Amino acid sequence: MTSWWFRNAAVYTVDVMQPWASCLVVHDDRIAYVGEDDGARAHLRDETLEVDLEGRFVMPGFVDAHDHLIGGALAKVGVSLDGLHGKEAVLEAIRRYALEHPDRSVLRGFGWTPFTFGQGVQPHRTWLDSVTDVRPALMLTYDVHDGWANTAAFELAGIGAHSHDPNPPSGYWPRDPDGFPSGTCCEPESWLPIATALGMFTLDAVMEAMSQTLDAAPSWGITTAFDASPMVQSKSLVTEVYEHLVQRDLAEGLPVRLIGSYVARNPAMPPEVAAARLREMHHDVVSPNFSITTMKLFMDGVGPQHTAALLEPYTDQPDNRGPFVFPPDVVQRFIEAANLAGFDAHMHACGDAGVRGALDAIEQVQAAHGPLGARNTVCHLELCNIADVPRFAQLGVIANGTPLWGTDYRGEFIDSYPHLIGRERFQRDYLPYGALVRSGALVTFGADCPGVEVHEIPPLIQIEAAVTRQRPGRADDRPCGAHERVSLVDAIRCYTINGAFALRLEDEVGSLVAGKRADLVVLDQNPFTVDVHSIHAIGVRHTMLGGRFTHGGTF
Ligand SMILES: [Zn+2]
Repeated sequence: MTSWWFRNAAVYTVDVMQPWASCLVVHDDRIAYVGEDDGARAHLRDETLEVDLEGRFVMPGFVDAHDHLIGGALAKVGVSLDGLHGKEAVLEAIRRYALEHPDRSVLRGFGWTPFTFGQGVQPHRTWLDSVTDVRPALMLTYDVHDGWANTAAFELAGIGAHSHDPNPPSGYWPRDPDGFPSGTCCEPESWLPIATALGMFTLDAVMEAMSQTLDAAPSWGITTAFDASPMVQSKSLVTEVYEHLVQRDLAEGLPVRLIGSYVARNPAMPPEVAAARLREMHHDVVSPNFSITTMKLFMDGVGPQHTAALLEPYTDQPDNRGPFVFPPDVVQRFIEAANLAGFDAHMHACGDAGVRGALDAIEQVQAAHGPLGARNTVCHLELCNIADVPRFAQLGVIANGTPLWGTDYRGEFIDSYPHLIGRERFQRDYLPYGALVRSGALVTFGADCPGVEVHEIPPLIQIEAAVTRQRPGRADDRPCGAHERVSLVDAIRCYTINGAFALRLEDEVGSLVAGKRADLVVLDQNPFTVDVHSIHAIGVRHTMLGGRFTHGGTF
């Protein structure tokens, strides 16, 4: 068994009773002592190894409270269209990729946005046909809500003029006058059949994806993560992937403590059946660092594709408020079933009507049954009406967000969003993380890859964005609502103890306190003393998960 005495460090504990210390003793998988050298001596053992950290910064391991470390990178395969603007630049990148990869029988790509081709312009399949020869091709948006396929891909998937839209009004294929899909696939229901036909969903593909995310997470300082969906549809593959993770955990220990979810996708399913399926997974899928405790539900889609449910119509589509995926009265029955079974619900809600619907549903469940000890989360909050901000604290609902989206993300968001929702709503209600923190709500952060690129998952990148509302390292950037900045102290809480609370792990991880698991990171610099625009660049020297080094090697 191992025992460590980490000395001469700036230890930031995230414990309000004792925020700072200079040393820390770890026995086996737990923290034995946090404080000063004099007090540490009583806790040393013969085998304790003394390590001088030379003034480095030590803090709790990061808790990413909404991410997709299992399958998020499945959508990050092939040609990157990240940062490209306009039809010509995009097609040129795909043309080059196709030429350089003659061995690929299928062409994949990722990273375009609904703003890439100009406001309201959807890409056509014939554009792709012109650069992909006869090979089927599928290009996903940066957030994987939408796809863009060529004619060969539609044909391979057996989708044509007479195919019914998979889940209208949100999941559909815009059509040409002859009825054949024009190329864009709105929401995953519409591109998943194509991706499946193209062979995107196999255990090997998931393992390759995990090597980019789950296996890299310790190098970013992540020790615990909520997996909000493994990003694969078929029940059999989900089972296969979860079984693989359990076996790997038992054999060698997972690189990250993972809390997984059961995704209820079909609003027509009886809620008790969904709760029973979750209970079954909770029972079957369990190992020291992996468990399934949460039901994931979708209120709506996303703003840029006009699929987020809004209280008032879209500014550029005055007849459209966006559809619900699970209407509030339906989601209420799923939340109730999950909470009564002792599980938490985690609701995707991007539009202000989606957010309000989720809060209303939770309020109704509480009115009928009391709080049930549930730790329900509403995530994303692209638009949250100012009147709903205080309801999070009042109802004890956790608010989750991705700080990078609260910047001029991709150099597009500040100019593009007002076209969708008008300047007033954008300035008042867009990702109001600062208002939520100030309201007393418990706020958690997560990177939500594939909603960001893999290289944007590191918590220090996201924390800088939360503190500045500017893109990392971009002091010259226009802030995306400077009034929604949060303090560094709060941003760190959102990425540590608050996330631990949301996952029911606050007695085990999230702060450096004697008795808790030894989940910690050693950083090269102190985020409180570097320039705020440099936080993202601080090196993660070591990461320890339950007393085991998962990054940076041992001493
Ligand atoms: Zn997500």
